[in-house]
Amino acid sequence: MKYDYLVYAVGAETQTFNIPGVREHSCFMKELDDAEKMQRRFIDCLESAAFPGQSKEEIDRLLHMVVVGGGPTGVELSGELHDFLEDDLRSWYPELADHIRITLVEALPSVLPMFSKQLIDYTESTFKEAKIDILTKTMVKEIKEKAVVLQMPDKTIAEVPCGMVVWAAGNTLRQVTRDLMAKLPEQQTNRRGITVDESLRMKGANGIFAIGDCTATSYAPTAQVAAQEGSYLGRIFKQLAKRDALVEQLAEVKTLPDSEVEKKTKVETLESQIAKTEKIRPFKYSHQGSLAYIGSDKAIADLPFFQSGNIATAGVATYLFWRSAYLSKLFSLRNRALVATDWIKVKVFGRSVLSMLRLIS
Ligand SMILES: Cc1cc2nc3c(=O)[nH]c(=O)nc-3n(C[C@H](O)[C@H](O)[C@H](O)COP(=O)(O)OP(=O)(O)OC[C@H]3O[C@@H](n4cnc5c(N)ncnc54)[C@H](O)[C@@H]3O)c2cc1C
Repeated sequence: MKYDYLVYAVGAETQTFNIPGVREHSCFMKELDDAEKMQRRFIDCLESAAFPGQSKEEIDRLLHMVVVGGGPTGVELSGELHDFLEDDLRSWYPELADHIRITLVEALPSVLPMFSKQLIDYTESTFKEAKIDILTKTMVKEIKEKAVVLQMPDKTIAEVPCGMVVWAAGNTLRQVTRDLMAKLPEQQTNRRGITVDESLRMKGANGIFAIGDCTATSYAPTAQVAAQEGSYLGRIFKQLAKRDALVEQLAEVKTLPDSEVEKKTKVETLESQIAKTEKIRPFKYSHQGSLAYIGSDKAIADLPFFQSGNIATAGVATYLFWRSAYLSKLFSLRNRALVATDWIKVKVFGRSVLSMLRLIS
């Protein structure tokens, strides 16, 4: 399909660092399919553990959930898993509840490095209370069918039995992006993604704009950035359309049978209007803050406060703020009403997991 302008926004895919077994034995946390696969795997572990005649070691293995990656995705997932266990499973599988363990593995010295120290400490203490183990400075070396191989901070190797590993360790470029960048080897040299100029044009390809997770910018790969870039491009295209219309008008004016003086005035006015539309304002990201849910009805937030720095807040009130911020970002009243009703249903009746309903019916 021929194009005048191309907006390139294919996102990214899960980074496995070529660690053996990651693709084969872990669940990713990126696409909707990944979430469904993880849900099936999780329920499978529970149902297998509930099967009569299982040894205690096998029950402990099946109910050990390992989350790899201490960024917001891994932390939120660990918090949500904990809530699921406490809110729903404790009443449905009381005999199993005490065997369930969640371990969060992170290679860096702390989880959530983008948050302030105070919020990291708060998250770590909340996880401690919730009995979620955090292993920092710990590297995954291999994932096997029934265990994860870890290099501990003292460089010893430990093989830890587990029922499920969720891999939330970051993004890498899609092949289609690598192929596109390979066509411009001189301008596109950043291995993190597409290099763009201040108007989000791909360096070396004037007709291509690139936004979101496929680009290498100084911003974090978040929806907050991608959405602002999308709105910015919307405004740019409106401006370009206006310029194109003025250029057409100018061409028409030049052919009109007006007097030379009249024509000159019209041409000058149009030319000055066109010159204004040629100036494209650079993209400017406005950071609205960072939020993360950490389980037990608590969230953390680092919010910019006018010009005077950040406010770091945490707790139940922050959790309510987190919920309202997410609702406000949804596109229509219908979506907001549906999501809010889902949250209320979960609070009142618990989570709806088909296979569990089958079990208890
Ligand atoms: C679990 C999780 C939680 C997150 N939570 C937050 C959060 O709370 N706040 C936040 O700001 N960010 C969050 N993010 C990050 C956020 O989702 C991404 O930064 C954002 O979606 C990036 O937008 P994008 O448009 O660049 O890419 P995407 O949203 O990934 O969209 C790219 C689309 O392109 C499609 N595509 C790919 N290849 C092709 C192709 N060859 N042809 C056609 N289509 C193609 C893909 O299927 C996809 O639909 C989260 C991410 C994850 C994984």
